[in-house]
Amino acid sequence: MAEQPLKERDAMICRACGNEERASEGYPCDGCGTFICLVCSMRGVTRCKECQAKVGDTSESA
Ligand SMILES: [Zn+2]
Ligand SMILES: [Zn+2]
Repeated sequence: MAEQPLKERDAMICRACGNEERASEGYPCDGCGTFICLVCSMRGVTRCKECQAKVGDTSESA
């Protein structure tokens, strides 16, 4: 009768740093909408690794 739903853990893998963080506290990637954790977004990371690699060198003012 002690059936507890395993739904309390709302964790997702951040696609930028690879850590498992709370999905409800993260943000979607600017490029593809995948999960970016709160820690990364506080560091100014708004894209996952793949998207960052695609746009990484576009903000160069040469
Ligand atoms: Zn992260
Ligand atoms: Zn992305």
